[in-house]
Amino acid sequence: MAGEPQADCLFCKIVAGEVPAAVVRESATTVAFRDINPQAPTHVLVIPKVHHPDAASLAAAEPGIAADVLREAGQVALDEGITEHGYRIVFNIGAGAGQTVFHAHAHVLGGRGLQWPPG
Ligand code: AMP
Ligand code: ZN
Repeated sequence: MAGEPQADCLFCKIVAGEVPAAVVRESATTVAFRDINPQAPTHVLVIPKVHHPDAASLAAAEPGIAADVLREAGQVALDEGITEHGYRIVFNIGAGAGQTVFHAHAHVLGGRGLQWPPG
């Protein structure tokens, strides 16, 4: 069923505590943890505890939780002290856009100059 944990999903396993992660924030509906392969001095992932394959699917099915992800991403940026110089929240959707983990997640990137447009 939509939103149920998926046995083969890495991020569901992080939510369940079955795979370790460097957690920086947690809320009733979300977990934020450091990316294992950081692309910037701050690179944190914010995920919903429920499983949806990407951010658009999450927003369509559970818009309140999508809003929680976005709010937590902003709080991570505040916690990390990256708001003054600007930061980026990225949702890769689909393999062609670089999505490799098919459990919705926001990347929070900052602490260095960020080029626009992204590659
Ligand atoms: P995406 O390519 O948008 O699907 O993002 C997936 C992200 O998850 C990548 O930036 C990976 O480096 C990151 N990642 C993969 N495995 C782990 C893990 N065990 N802990 C933390 N981050 C991970
Ligand atoms: Zn999942």
